[in-house]
Amino acid sequence: VAAEKTLYGPQDAGIFIMERKSVTGALYNSSSAWLLEFYSSWCGHCINYAPTWRALASDVLDWNPAVRIGVINCADEENTAICKDYGVQFYPTFRFFGAFTKDFTQGENYKAEADREVPTVRHVIIDYLESLPAEHRPSACPSLQPISSSDITSLLTQKEPHYTAIIFESETSYVGREVILDLMQFENIAVRRALNSDKAMLEKLGVVSVPSCYLIYPNASHGLINIVKPLRSVVSSHLKSLPGVRKKAGAHSALPESLPSEDKEEDVAWKDYDKSKLYAADLESALHYLLRVELATHQTLEGEKLKTFKDFVTLLYKLFPGRTHVVKLLETLQEWLVSMPLDKIPYDAILDLVNNKMRISGIYLTNHVEWVGCQGSRAQLRGYPCSLWKLFHSLTVQAAVQPDALTNTEFEGDAQAVLKTMRRYIREFFGCRECAQHFEAMAKESVDSVKTAEEAALWLWRKHNVVNKRLAGAPSEDPKSPKVEWPTADLCPACHEEVNGLHSWNEKEVLAFLKRHYSAKEISLQYAD
Ligand code: FAD
Repeated sequence: VAAEKTLYGPQDAGIFIMERKSVTGALYNSSSAWLLEFYSSWCGHCINYAPTWRALASDVLDWNPAVRIGVINCADEENTAICKDYGVQFYPTFRFFGAFTKDFTQGENYKAEADREVPTVRHVIIDYLESLPAEHRPSACPSLQPISSSDITSLLTQKEPHYTAIIFESETSYVGREVILDLMQFENIAVRRALNSDKAMLEKLGVVSVPSCYLIYPNASHGLINIVKPLRSVVSSHLKSLPGVRKKAGAHSALPESLPSEDKEEDVAWKDYDKSKLYAADLESALHYLLRVELATHQTLEGEKLKTFKDFVTLLYKLFPGRTHVVKLLETLQEWLVSMPLDKIPYDAILDLVNNKMRISGIYLTNHVEWVGCQGSRAQLRGYPCSLWKLFHSLTVQAAVQPDALTNTEFEGDAQAVLKTMRRYIREFFGCRECAQHFEAMAKESVDSVKTAEEAALWLWRKHNVVNKRLAGAPSEDPKSPKVEWPTADLCPACHEEVNGLHSWNEKEVLAFLKRHYSAKEISLQYAD
């Protein structure tokens, strides 16, 4: 994948970039354990989190023979099937895999209660390594167990040809284990840890506080290392810089790592477009991505998921403001779903129906993404979430301009039909979990106050602006499309007013603008295939 199409590239030290073809092979019978991030390159939280993941991978690079850090981009359609096999539906998802696994496994989820800051991830990795049964423990992983007082006594009397560092620490400290792993690829030194429970031993060695590092030299002399701050990084770099201590030959280098991958086409060229227009290509790409990538991560639909999907397809069929061949496909899908008496539908059956419809029959949906008004200046920016907003705005506006569209459906007379279904869709299916939580909080707070279809269109406009305001300046912001409250004055001068010297929206004008902007009549077919 071209570097800018993913959040990670070969320049990121310690990050193994996985793809459909490489992931299973890399995990199969691996000599190290793995921690993989399944991410989506369009997910704002994944974009924002990428610097932390890079920092983590580089921070634990020396732990590589025991544990490796990988990434896989589930937004890349090439990887959809593999992400589905791993049961990944939301992003980012973090999974551990033990060493020497021979049978396929979906891995073990990262601790739900732990945060994802670098120090916490290091601790969770250590907990995971310690939890592994012997057969899945990486063979290169040194012992992380504390040694006993009698072990210490014999170390002090033996003459070893190398240094031995003993980290004294409390039971809850991770410093010792971190330093052991930091030094695992270095020769002329062994690192051990001991708990601060044997007070007599601590006194004998002059250890007055923990963590402390006690060093036995190759000539058997010994003493406490005098470091001002006994932090993991300080202790590790002190030990690495001792005379004669160096990285073992053939040890994993600090060079960027990546697994063999296929060459793929470069990013597509920039398409000129008009910001005042809505493009059919964006709405159809949204449907394609939603049906063939986002939802396809589900093996089966049942219960609330199935009901949400059915309702969503009904709304799409009745309100989608696009071309006839797409609306016909939505109609066919809706009729098929209604005719299915099952309370559980394999998602492949839905995909078959969508994929089998041919252009020649006049019932079809494009099978690739073509972002126009949603294109980003870099490929991970904008795209799908942008098109999903546009799709839902279109549906709320269509419900307002065609009051009879939902007659004879279960949504007849329900002013909140689109918003409620959108809320359920976002909750059940939208890959970006933190987006979903934010949206749910906004909906819970005020969606019940919506009494007409026009109020629904305005509610979504208002809430989208709340999101724009919150995300302004975030790493997921495209400098070419800054997040501002919308519509800007160049698009709708009449929408903007000043009251007592302060900016104020003229909501009547905003509604009229939304009705024009998201109306079926105004949609541009440029770039649509
Ligand atoms: P978008 O915000 O995606 O807007 C797309 C287009 O919609 C704009 O280009 C414009 O034409 C139009 N538009 C803009 N504002 C309005 C408006 N007020 N009313 C009508 N039309 C408008 N990302 C996060 O990082 N954190 C989140 O919590 C988060 N929550 C999200 C919740 C939902 C439901 C969705 C669909 C997305 C969410 N995202 C979140 C993604 C984020 O909002 C953007 O979609 C993404 O960053 C792409 O931004 P964009 O610049 O393409 O513009």
